Amino acid sequence: MKKIIEKLKQKHRFLVVSHTHPDGDAVGALLAMGLALKAMGKDVQLYNESVIPAVYRFLPSMAVIQQKVTPESTFDVAIVLDCGDIERVGTLAQTIGQMPLVINIDHHVTNTRFGHMQLIDVDACATSEIIFRLLKALPVQIDQTIATAIYTGILTDTGSFRFSNTNRSAFAICAEMIDNGVDAYAVAQRVYGTYSLGRIKLLNLALDSLEISSNGRLSMMTLTQRMLRETRTQAEDIDGIINYARRIQDVRVAALIHELCLNGGVSRGRRHFHVSLRSDGSVDVAAIAARFGGGGHAGASGFTIESTLTELKAQLMALADTFDGVCAQS
Ligand code: AMP
Ligand code: MN
Ligand code: MN
Repeated sequence: MKKIIEKLKQKHRFLVVSHTHPDGDAVGALLAMGLALKAMGKDVQLYNESVIPAVYRFLPSMAVIQQKVTPESTFDVAIVLDCGDIERVGTLAQTIGQMPLVINIDHHVTNTRFGHMQLIDVDACATSEIIFRLLKALPVQIDQTIATAIYTGILTDTGSFRFSNTNRSAFAICAEMIDNGVDAYAVAQRVYGTYSLGRIKLLNLALDSLEISSNGRLSMMTLTQRMLRETRTQAEDIDGIINYARRIQDVRVAALIHELCLNGGVSRGRRHFHVSLRSDGSVDVAAIAARFGGGGHAGASGFTIESTLTELKAQLMALADTFDGVCAQS
């Protein structure tokens, strides 16, 4: 941390980036880090490949996040946030990975330790928690804008203080952010309180798709591109739906299969899918996702796969019989 702080003080031109299809932590950590460096007088570009989901567009100053890296610009440092591996930043992964100094700040157990410097804390409830600690050691004021970003990152990554990563710091930091001007009710209303009608219809289709393994330990939901079209929703509207499958009594692992729209060049019924996994704490789903080339946390993970839907469902269902042997790390 000390060495990273030195670099942040010394260097001038920064690219700050977080993972594609950002969640609240990826947006919050990106804004907090980027705005803090700007406040220090640095030349900073905040970048995310994806359009920021509608529920996070209320965040003050979120308009500074760009979907493109200005081609002529050069950077001394790339700060990569909330990414277990460099590929999570998207199509610019190679370019960013080759920048003169790559700083990897994250809290995923499956982090590959990419980059020249790493600040990885798997016990942090969110990357936003690590950014908060960094900011405390930098000559910057955590104003209302930065506080709202950090608060939103922690609120969403802990599932509103309900997931197993909820720790003492989650409450302590959020309390401090409220002292710095965050309106907790306003954030909750923006993030959770206002769903489009399409999103509710999509939830209905997801609940209708629910399948349970014969031993009752695995629940599975499926969302196809057709369902997204029918309900006029987008991938970002799927966020949180998996929690309904996770809540079911006796279920240890919930899986949500989401058909991706990049299906060009794939033949004979094979399509691209993203699979989200959540566990009740008794199964390490980061290890399961890693076997499929993905990653995440012991309690929440994901991976992307090319398969037929029938094959994929069978593979996931087969996992239910193995749960006794897989123990959670935390
Ligand atoms: P999701 O599947 O998008 O709900 O994500 C759950 C967790 O798994 C998050 O912490 C993600 O960062 C992580 N994750 C999701 N997909 C991948 C992937 N393809 N590779 C590595 N980690 C992932
Ligand atoms: Mn994330
Ligand atoms: Mn995170």
